[in-house]
Amino acid sequence: MSASLGTEVLLPPASLGVVGGGQLGRMFIQAAQRMGYRAVVLTDEADGPAAQVAHEVVKGKDDDLRTLQRFVTRVEAITVEFENVSSSALRWLAARMPTRPDWRAVRISQNRLREKMFLSRHGLPTAPWKPVRSDEELALALAEVGPPLILKTASSGYDGKGQVRVDEPGQARPAWESLGRVPCVAEGVVRFSAELSVLVVRGRDGQMETFPVAMNRHERHILDATIMPAPVGPIVSQEARDLARTVAEAMGYVGVLCVEFFLAGDGTLRVNEIAPRPHNSGHLTIEAATTSQFEQQVRALCGLPIGPTTLRSAAAMVNLLGDLWTDGPPDWSNALRTEPAASLHLYGKGAAPIGRKMGHLTVLDSDPEMALARALAARQATGTGRTTG
Ligand code: AMP
Repeated sequence: MSASLGTEVLLPPASLGVVGGGQLGRMFIQAAQRMGYRAVVLTDEADGPAAQVAHEVVKGKDDDLRTLQRFVTRVEAITVEFENVSSSALRWLAARMPTRPDWRAVRISQNRLREKMFLSRHGLPTAPWKPVRSDEELALALAEVGPPLILKTASSGYDGKGQVRVDEPGQARPAWESLGRVPCVAEGVVRFSAELSVLVVRGRDGQMETFPVAMNRHERHILDATIMPAPVGPIVSQEARDLARTVAEAMGYVGVLCVEFFLAGDGTLRVNEIAPRPHNSGHLTIEAATTSQFEQQVRALCGLPIGPTTLRSAAAMVNLLGDLWTDGPPDWSNALRTEPAASLHLYGKGAAPIGRKMGHLTVLDSDPEMALARALAARQATGTGRTTG
């Protein structure tokens, strides 16, 4: 990357580009627009969540040179909304204008093998793991890691996709075959008492802040609910925040990054994965924090000072998955009658298949467990008294 790129502070109404058209792009754009920036999205979904709110859409695929060429004429700096973007496209863009995060960080988190190697190289604690790229390596993983273990495809897996649990040695080979014998990571099953995450934001000048630790609950491998701050005590909390800072520092990262952890039964933390972007567990920072994760992404991209990560209030977030639409559109008036202070976010997605993230609800309360109970009650109420159709 050229050393002169990205040294200027970009002030509104500069045009910011975002690669990817989902809800993370939508919320980035909403934060940018509130600050007076223009936003341009590169997506092949002309009516997707981000395109609906952008000033301008460059329609196409991110691995198409003509699309990239059009995109760079429209924007002054670029970010990504999701890590499954072409890292060679990001590299191409980074040679032409400020592009955050760096393509190298995105490349690491796109591939579980690279990610695990990166974490191990920097002394960050993970579950025991071994690469599986051949029958010999599968046998070695069985001997050294488990069972029980989880086979995860090295690339293109998220929300539990591309994962198979192996409880007995005999299941290992069929499990790997069911994943198409693609390169995998074999990971020991962590008996965790909680799943945590930490969002860290690092500015161009190296200034770094972490948000309070979030505690996450997953259903069917998909995030279901988050509370912040996590009720884990000051020692675990400080340790998690320090580890997240170590990851961002080691990557020389600029922007917002999420580190997900398991809190094991013995009280130790293990890094599960890294997301080089704002994260679902940080959506509640829109209402709960002094500076939301999306505003931090804007500030880091533009070279503005990053903001305080303090909370105005503890909070909970519950996801609204497509499952809620099974019997027709949910009744949001019931949800808001049950919990008038809930903040409803819908991402503008058309189809609502089971498991698709359609939106979320956030509730603030001085007691995070109470915030969760109130958010769950609001979500539950969407299904009551509904007229179908
Ligand atoms: P991932 O896509 O790797 O984040 O996995 C999705 C979810 O599967 C996690 O949030 C955990 O609930 C569960 N999981 C993944 N890896 C492990 C592991 N090594 N031990 C226990 N549970 C796991």
